[in-house]
Formats: sequence, structure tokens, C-alpha cells
Amino acid sequence: MFWRGFLLVVCDVCGLRGARVFQAYSGLRLCGECFVESVRSRVWGEVERWGLIEPGDSVLLAVSGGKDSYVMLESLALRYKASRLIGLSIIEGIPGYNREDDVRALVDFAKGYGVDVVVVSVRDYVGLSVYEMVREARSRGLVESACTFCGLSRRHIMDYYARMLGASKVATAHNLDDEVQTLVINMLRGDVIGVVKVHPLSPHPEGGVRRVKPLRKVYEWETAAYAMLRGFRFQETECMFIEENPTLRAKVRIALYDLEREHPGSLLRLLEYFDKTLQDAIKKVEPKGSTSTCSRCGALTTQGRGLCKLCELLERAGLTEPRYTRLRLSVKR
Ligand code: SF4
Ligand code: ZN
Ligand code: ZN
Repeated sequence: MFWRGFLLVVCDVCGLRGARVFQAYSGLRLCGECFVESVRSRVWGEVERWGLIEPGDSVLLAVSGGKDSYVMLESLALRYKASRLIGLSIIEGIPGYNREDDVRALVDFAKGYGVDVVVVSVRDYVGLSVYEMVREARSRGLVESACTFCGLSRRHIMDYYARMLGASKVATAHNLDDEVQTLVINMLRGDVIGVVKVHPLSPHPEGGVRRVKPLRKVYEWETAAYAMLRGFRFQETECMFIEENPTLRAKVRIALYDLEREHPGSLLRLLEYFDKTLQDAIKKVEPKGSTSTCSRCGALTTQGRGLCKLCELLERAGLTEPRYTRLRLSVKR
């Protein structure tokens, strides 16, 4: 929450500059510099606490060009050598959503920290953009949400580039709000595996690249405030398919916002409680050893599946020869 016109209130941390942000959950009134520092140190603290980036890791940063991805990129680039980081920006191909100048701004921003960004489009990789996939599928009578096509395509591309570039981790810019929403949705659905996956120590499939979320303790309003204070030129346009998001997530999001407004810090405490409660138990969970490779594209998939989820979805949509199947992913085991 920004404070406008309250410059006579002095920052609670440095006592030097005027407060610009009220951090309701901590009760602190912070100047821009101290607020930005508080976000960065939370990101670094979370990374170190759970070993999200360890010595020897090289990390593929999934950067969309939105505010969260800028915050992740900058805070990690300030802490880790640029040679250990590489960005991946995926252009979904959704009318009005992916703007060329936003991508260029992101690439230039990363370059300022010495971090290269690979820009790849879903159309180049799959053969069709997300919009075209949805249109084709619907013309054939398959009513599957656009987010399913989009999410599975992006995941496939991330895994492919992580392996191709030799990255040992893939970092995504999910924030605290995203994480708690996912946690609550999985609890409401009784999806125990989904719940466990939210934990930062959750085992990942053997041969797969571990996914990490450095911003998982940073509120969404904080990434917005950070991006504005730092003057980032982030992508603000909304995807035309956003309204199609599952209703449960939308309802959970609203309920959690209300809760947080009335009881500041609720989301942070909930995730902290979850992290601590599962911390010991999760170490006893065996890594998923039962994986196999997709017979069509070679991507890693769950044991017993002939095709990976994306190939299976595209087959159901009548799209049986996606371009990426010619790349034949080789899975390190
Ligand atoms: Fe993709 Fe759905 Fe997000 Fe649009 S709203 S970018 S389709 S995941
Ligand atoms: Zn200060
Ligand atoms: Zn496949």
C-alpha cells in the first residue's frame, strides 16, 4: 500500500527518509529504498532457507515481462553471478497480450544485469500459437480451457530449454498470493499430491529439472509496489482468456484478499505454517522414481503414460504433428 502525501512520516527502518509504503502485515512504514530492500532480503532468505539455488546451479528464469518476473530477475541478478542465470521469455501468441516492445524492454533490462534472455514463441515450438490451438480445438468440438493449452505448452518449452541449456533449476515468479491460492484450492479438492507440491522441498520427478519459486514469500501488492518504485516498464495488458480461469481460483482469490485485508499477514502466516509443518515429513517422501518418456516427443512423463500431457492434449484436439516432436528431447537420467 502506497502512502501519498505522508512524507512527514519518517521510515521506521532507516529513520532518514519519508515513508512511502505501509506494510500492513509488519506494521512498518517504509521509505522506497528500505521497502525494496525488505523484498529483496525476503527473496534471498527464502532461496537460502530451502536451497532454491545452490552452489554449482545454473538457473533458467521463466520471465513473462510482468511485474513479478522483473522483481525476480533483478533480485536474483543482484545476488548471483549473471553467468549462472539465463532468462526464458515465452510468447504465447494471444492477440493483444504479447507486445513486441514489452519483450524488447525485458531483454534490455536483463542485459543491463548481464543476463541473456532466450525469446521463444509457442508457435515456433508447437507449430501453432496458443490462440490458434484453442481455435483449432474448438472448431473440432474440444472444449478445453485456453489456460490448459497455454500452461502445458509453456511447461514443455521450459523443460526443453532447461535441458538444452543445461540448467539445473527453473525459477518461476509465482508470488505469495499465487502460492496460497494453489495451496487452498488443492486442499479444497482433497488433492494431497497437489498440496505437497506447493512445499519448496517437494521431491521432483527423477530426471526432471527442479522448479523453484523465489518470490513465494512476497505479496503480489509488494511486487507491484517494488516495480513502480523501481520504475520498471512491465507488461500490464491482460490476457483475453483470463476470464476463463477456473471459477474456484477466482473465488479463492477474492476470499483470501478479504481475509488479508481484515487480518493483515494471514497469507504469510498460512504459508509459513504449512512450510514448517511439512518440513520434516516431506524429507521422508521418496523422490518420484517412476517416470518414462513420451513416445512422440521424448519429454519426461509419468510412468504408464504413452504420451506426455501436451502431446495427449494436442492429439485430442486433432493436432497430431506438433513441431517440437522433431526436436526429440533427450532426458538425462
Ligand atoms: Fe495463458 Fe490462461 Fe494466463 Fe492467458 S490467462 S496467459 S491463456 S495461462
Ligand atoms: Zn528507510
Ligand atoms: Zn510428448
